[in-house]
Amino acid sequence: MRKLILVIVYFLSVSVYALETEITVLGVTLPGANINQANTYLNSLISYWPTSTGTTVKLANGGVTIPIASTPSGSADVQLSAAKTAEQNLGLRNLYQADVILFFTTIVPAPIPNRIACGYAPQYNWTAAGAKKFVPDANGIDRAGSELWYAGLIATTETACNPYPETAAHEFGHLFAAGHLKPPANIYLFPDSHAMHISIGYPVYANYRTIMAGGPQGATLTGNFSSVSGAWDNLNTLNTTALSVANYRTGSSSGGGGGGGGGGECTLQAPTVIAGSLVNQCLPQLNTEHSVTWLDACPSASTKYEVWYSQPDGADDVKGWETTSASTPVFVIGADSRIRIKSCNNVQCSSLSAMSYLAYYDC
Ligand SMILES: [Zn+2]
Repeated sequence: MRKLILVIVYFLSVSVYALETEITVLGVTLPGANINQANTYLNSLISYWPTSTGTTVKLANGGVTIPIASTPSGSADVQLSAAKTAEQNLGLRNLYQADVILFFTTIVPAPIPNRIACGYAPQYNWTAAGAKKFVPDANGIDRAGSELWYAGLIATTETACNPYPETAAHEFGHLFAAGHLKPPANIYLFPDSHAMHISIGYPVYANYRTIMAGGPQGATLTGNFSSVSGAWDNLNTLNTTALSVANYRTGSSSGGGGGGGGGGECTLQAPTVIAGSLVNQCLPQLNTEHSVTWLDACPSASTKYEVWYSQPDGADDVKGWETTSASTPVFVIGADSRIRIKSCNNVQCSSLSAMSYLAYYDC
């Protein structure tokens, strides 16, 4: 006798669907906006956006902004909510299946007197103190903000904002829960959802900012989002939320016009900014301790870094140790030591960084 085995398959009714990896961004101008500036800002998103997020930016309407009638004055909240209503009446977001809309206006009044704002992009599902945080669904994404926090406002005629080519990328980053410099701490998605600003005057002058830093005086833009784990790691925040935003709207555009092109893959390259600071003068024992950080323009291409040193300064470079994060403690004893870094993957390493940090001996 054979037993008849009935196999009953239950199909679970979990809504799992194919995820999109393109973030469709529509640019819209309000009356009086500088159209050329708006289009330049909009198209800059392609190069600023990190492909390590697993997503790419696609510009609706071929990267050309669309003018609408809406109020270009009043507070940032007033302008943004009026623009969203005006856009909805026209059905532009639906027409282009846009995940995100950036509205370009003339001036964005700052909420604090005597300050200047270059934009405004609230995302309170992921950033406000005490609010809900990232809550993944069956697909691992969180679309709770898809109908509320999909839009930002950007100033185009405020001359104080003109030196900052990353202005649109900065506001765009806020929509993914990326935050400013500390403080305020811990109102963004993660405790390290912060921008980096490095300013040191000795022994080598350096003054660098990442995209979410705003505009510290005289600081040079690194062209990327911060990625120092545990300290300033906006990239990790973007990696968490990017796929969610890419799926705010699903389905293909019926609006025509075509896309703005992909971001392109980046390749292994030497770190560009080596900076550091003194931590301890004679600890442990007679060592001088420095903390050294660097920036990798293509972190997705590297798996680790080699720390090289020249001691005394000017001697041949010697390989010291490896690290998987873009920072390391450095202990020097007896003579100054110049630190340079290589980016490496599992096959090869970049050349030594052109920039270096002199970890001086002072004990
Ligand atoms: Zn900001």
